[in-house]
Amino acid sequence: MSTSDTIDLVHASLGEQELAAVAEVFASGWPAGQGPKGKALEAQLKERYGAGDAVAVSNCGAALHLAMLALGVKPGDEVIVADYTFPAPAHAVRYVGAVPVFADVRADTGTVDPQAVADLIGPRTVGVIAVDTVGMPADYAQLQAIADRHGIFVVEDAACAVGATYQGREAGALAEVACLSFHGRKGATSGEGGALITADAALGADARLRSSFGIGSIFDQAQVVGLPIPQFTEIGYNFKLSDIAAAILQVQIGRIGELLKRRSAVAEQYAQLLADEELLSVPRVPEDRTHAWQSYMVTLDERVDRSAVAKALRAQGIGCGHGTWATHLQPVFEGGRACPVSADLFARNLAIPMHAELSEEQVQRVVATLRAAVREHAGARSAA
Ligand SMILES: *Cc1c(COP(=O)(O)O)cnc(C)c1O
Repeated sequence: MSTSDTIDLVHASLGEQELAAVAEVFASGWPAGQGPKGKALEAQLKERYGAGDAVAVSNCGAALHLAMLALGVKPGDEVIVADYTFPAPAHAVRYVGAVPVFADVRADTGTVDPQAVADLIGPRTVGVIAVDTVGMPADYAQLQAIADRHGIFVVEDAACAVGATYQGREAGALAEVACLSFHGRKGATSGEGGALITADAALGADARLRSSFGIGSIFDQAQVVGLPIPQFTEIGYNFKLSDIAAAILQVQIGRIGELLKRRSAVAEQYAQLLADEELLSVPRVPEDRTHAWQSYMVTLDERVDRSAVAKALRAQGIGCGHGTWATHLQPVFEGGRACPVSADLFARNLAIPMHAELSEEQVQRVVATLRAAVREHAGARSAA
């Protein structure tokens, strides 16, 4: 889709190495899931995250659903979810008939506010789903301390966070269960894909079984001499990742460092060039963590007309978006409690192009166009 004068908001870095890996799968004759490539990917993820188990699944939404099932979340239970995010955590809570309780976020990081979580814990609370917001890890030390005090679980939604770190540890290994996304707009991708990473091998085994209709790997059974007839012991789902996708991911996981280095350079260039712009603020990353830069969101001053700025950028061929969502304001989740900080970020954030293939000249052009647009579309400061 890129032409010389359009600058895409996102762009998946997939190339010859990934194509060669797919060709191997075609030659092997096993394109379905839980085959040799799927198992190799799971071993690679388990090693990378120092985990008890890693389960490759079809997407992060499925991983979150399996996490709720493996953790035994039941109808009527309450699970506290970070509000400012792609609303997959709240969906996962609803899949199992439980109630998502929305927790507001820190204004400076967009990640869930540990104090808000502590304030929402009640007799029916069984756990918390924190989100590494567009690649910025949440406050796991505080969250884990709160969870331990109340005997509830923490799940890390690390969908956007491959490559990020928190207090020297990898995002994806910051809680008992973490869920990754390999969707085409994330830092490592197979088009669609996901993984559940867990310290607890029993949770991993439960998730793997339920990801394949409640029976084990068909590939494994085909290797056995004789005619074992597996039995279905659970109502499971088909959340398997194909071996075609797994092969692509094996290459992408190996490239996380290289791709993140490039995105980090883009983030640094934006931060430098936009530091003096009073009509917006750039992301600030706390000292104890690093960002995976799945997206780059600036927060516009309240005087700026965001939709007019977006229109101006798009008219120049520059991709942009609103960033992410205030979950509690989505019609399907309406009626919950207010999260004013999340609502404010949802109203004022603007995502600008961020991917590993942006050139310095393109970043300069985005900045020049953005600067002109915010100045042109800044009205009087609202009385509110
Ligand atoms: C993208 C995203 C998801 C969903 O991932 P899929 O792989 O598309 O299901 C979940 N949570 C967050 C925070 C996301 O950004």
